[in-house]
Amino acid sequence: MDPAPVSEQPPSEGTTHARERRFKGIAASPGIWRGKISVRTLSRIRKKRSLSPDEIETELQRFATAHNDCVAELEDVIRQAVGDKRVVRPILETQLLLLTDTTIVDHIQQRIRNGEPAENAVHAEYSAQSTLLKRVHDTMLRDRASDIDSIKHRLVSQLNSARLHGSIVDGEGTILVAPFVSPTEVVIFRDKGIKAFVTELSGIASHASIMSRQLNIPAVIGVKEVTKFMKDGATAIVDGFTGTIVVNPRPETLLKFERRISTLADSENKLGKLAKQPSQTSDKRKIGLLANVSNLEEIEQVTANRADGIGLIRTESFAMTRGAIPSEKEQVQYYREIAERAYPLPVNIRAFDFGSDKSIGMMLPEDNPALGMRGMRWLLKNKKVFRQQVRAVLRASKHKNIRFMLPFVTSLNEAHKAMEVIQQVKASLTRKGTAFDARTPIGIMIETPSAAMQAQSLAAMFDFISIGTNDLTQYTLAADRTNPLVAAAYDYFHPAVLQLISRVAEAGVMLDIPVGICGEMASHPATTQLLIGMGITELSVVPSQLLNTKKQIRKTSFRRARKLAVDIMQIPDAQQIRKKLIRK
Ligand code: PEP
Ligand code: MG
Repeated sequence: MDPAPVSEQPPSEGTTHARERRFKGIAASPGIWRGKISVRTLSRIRKKRSLSPDEIETELQRFATAHNDCVAELEDVIRQAVGDKRVVRPILETQLLLLTDTTIVDHIQQRIRNGEPAENAVHAEYSAQSTLLKRVHDTMLRDRASDIDSIKHRLVSQLNSARLHGSIVDGEGTILVAPFVSPTEVVIFRDKGIKAFVTELSGIASHASIMSRQLNIPAVIGVKEVTKFMKDGATAIVDGFTGTIVVNPRPETLLKFERRISTLADSENKLGKLAKQPSQTSDKRKIGLLANVSNLEEIEQVTANRADGIGLIRTESFAMTRGAIPSEKEQVQYYREIAERAYPLPVNIRAFDFGSDKSIGMMLPEDNPALGMRGMRWLLKNKKVFRQQVRAVLRASKHKNIRFMLPFVTSLNEAHKAMEVIQQVKASLTRKGTAFDARTPIGIMIETPSAAMQAQSLAAMFDFISIGTNDLTQYTLAADRTNPLVAAAYDYFHPAVLQLISRVAEAGVMLDIPVGICGEMASHPATTQLLIGMGITELSVVPSQLLNTKKQIRKTSFRRARKLAVDIMQIPDAQQIRKKLIRK
């Protein structure tokens, strides 16, 4: 992340308003909070001389007291976290294991016996452990390093009696700005009235970040040297959706954020209990509820509505708004930003689906573009572009929440060739030692009758299926989805379309992989029960339909949905099917 600040605004003329400053970090926990800042800095490790032999016993005692105090405090917080069994408590218990690890404690005591002051011994031992983890490629393990660092800092602060949270008075400053926050402190600070965190240390999968998300405390992390730039008592806005912090906001900025806060509060109220409830049928069959997202701002709706992830990112839109293929660096930044904002929810990034009505400068004119160089066909003819995109997606995958999917695949040959390119790129990234998630799930979009008919053989080499019903309808019914003259013929309630969807769902069952729908059809509330009954396991809808769709999912049992699907499949006419579903 860029060092702070990223931009500065002069005060409006004629006002004495302090300068507005913006800082950018990683959005670690969603939500927006406005309040006063409390800045906490770390007690530094002073370089002390070596201990003389007669000081050693006292120093061992000093370490034992500090260590016992930290353990007692953590145990206390664990006891208080009785209501947070699922995520919060296990994290705190892991912290306790790290703190009481006998090997580390023995090594610290040994260092003290060898003449090292306790602070230095603690620092050296825990740093050695976290340095080891920071070297590994696996980001999850690397994020565990920040957990170890946080324990190190707690122990050192305890030894120095300069406790990080000791000086925070209840109600003082609602935004804590600190070098780091440990999982224990997330709970302690929350109880002291802290409503948002900003830290210098990063690691969106670190336990402190996970706890902030779990406890609904907005957090922005990885803002380098932020404690140097911020002052106690200044007003600030923490935007945990975008990873932005605005200090001394100007009245216009404030107004903008107040509006967003009130829209969020409104939708929270409206959604009420439903937002918090799982997306499952009344007989507890889980149906993944995701959203198709077309810009970064919409990710906010996904997290605020507690959806299960992002079912479709149309990357060609990103290229088309620029008028050219973005560079690999731009792509990595864009995909990473999406993945980080959505984290830990999964994000389906779709490879460029150029062609037909979506064109950029590089496309050759064609008489019948919808049946021409489109989607996977175009990418295989423009392998440099495809290779670059695969590389960018994989490079952005370090948090392990990216899934990559291929559009408009019409034959086994295309699927094999695409997978070959992905394997080659993976091998080359591994050779270069570039970090990426080697297990990034790869999915296939089923958008043509040929792909639907062959779904089982095609999908056998993929981790998931996503049905593009917008195109499946157009290609099955030979009705251009953009032509108003054939709008009446373009109908996803047509039995032929439904039969193909059902066939693909069955392939998913046979292969035991998820089958989602990311076309507009999934957003139509009258289709929810039918699609569940056909065996669809994930619905990706427009963000505004998330809650309504959840309502439909929760209304039905899988048994009833199954029966409805069987009944509907007997009806040979689209009009009758539509009527029956809408009347229901
Ligand atoms: C679809 O075809 O249903 C789909 C989701 O892809 P697009 O609308 O981008 O073609
Ligand atoms: Mg499509």
